[in-house]
Amino acid sequence: AKEQGGGGRLEIYAAHMHAKVVNRLELQTELRQALADNAFTLEYQPVVDLETSQVTAVEALVRWRRGDELVQPEEFIGPAEESGLITPLGEWILREACERVAMWRASDWDIGLSVNLSVKQILSPRFVETVAGALEETGLPGRVLTMEVDEEVLLENPGEAVERLAELRRLGVRLAIDDFGMGYASLAHLRELRVDAIKIDPSFIRDLGQDGTVTLLTHTIIRLGQDLGMDVVAEGIERSDQLEQLRSMGCGHGQGFLVARPMVAEGVEALVGGGAEVAL
Ligand code: C2E
Ligand code: MG
Ligand code: MG
Ligand code: MG
Repeated sequence: AKEQGGGGRLEIYAAHMHAKVVNRLELQTELRQALADNAFTLEYQPVVDLETSQVTAVEALVRWRRGDELVQPEEFIGPAEESGLITPLGEWILREACERVAMWRASDWDIGLSVNLSVKQILSPRFVETVAGALEETGLPGRVLTMEVDEEVLLENPGEAVERLAELRRLGVRLAIDDFGMGYASLAHLRELRVDAIKIDPSFIRDLGQDGTVTLLTHTIIRLGQDLGMDVVAEGIERSDQLEQLRSMGCGHGQGFLVARPMVAEGVEALVGGGAEVAL
């Protein structure tokens, strides 16, 4: 009876694993179809200059329109990476965002664009070509585009990824380290790769002013960025005390629900309709 019980558990476990794999495969098939059906859509979250409250850039954030549901990237970026779909999806995201921002710039608004990259995209052979093509076809100058990479990108494939990113920089594109401070070797990466901006991880901003060590670390990251001539962006600003503290620490830019939520393109236009400033 004992053995039987064990076998039963094993069977249940195997069935569970099987279901998981099947779900994963179904999801990947669905994602592929979604790309063909043009079911992905972009939201844009404003980034503001903390001194002037001007919206200086937007970060493109992808969503999936699945029936009435708007699926968030946390649920599908991983599977898209595993299946390789992230490469064509990433191309679509880049193209779509560049077109939108080129339109805004054509109406005399000096706005920048940030786009997230995953490591799979960077290592795909046509990557640099694709970015160059998107810039050329939309007429955007490279300096308007910032590519955001997580630190893991550099951890997993240092030589190759660093070389690709250096090629991007030669196009004039700016590089930002996303979620800065959470990786294992944040400082070492700043040596290997020229970066233009660091985005302080929201976990620091959350405890700002409430945890002495976190407050000190945040201040140190801001000064480090300034000393290295990099732009520093604080992510996840939700409270006005965080905003005030970041301002007093001289943090250059900020992003977060307090400033503005991610929104559809028309929302961004409405927000900045009366001038590129938000009320802060
Ligand atoms: P991320 O690049 O760090 O993007 C910031 C995330 O924080 C966004 O979540 C945004 O909605 C959220 N956020 C912004 N302000 C606040 C705030 O004040 N409070 C809180 N709690 N959250 C805030 P989202 O859109 O769900 O994206 C999650 C992650 O998915 C992104 O993190 C990025 O790593 C990835 N991602 C999103 N879009 C793309 C894309 O187009 N390509 C790739 N490769 N990855 C993407
Ligand atoms: Mg980002
Ligand atoms: Mg990210
Ligand atoms: Mg981030």
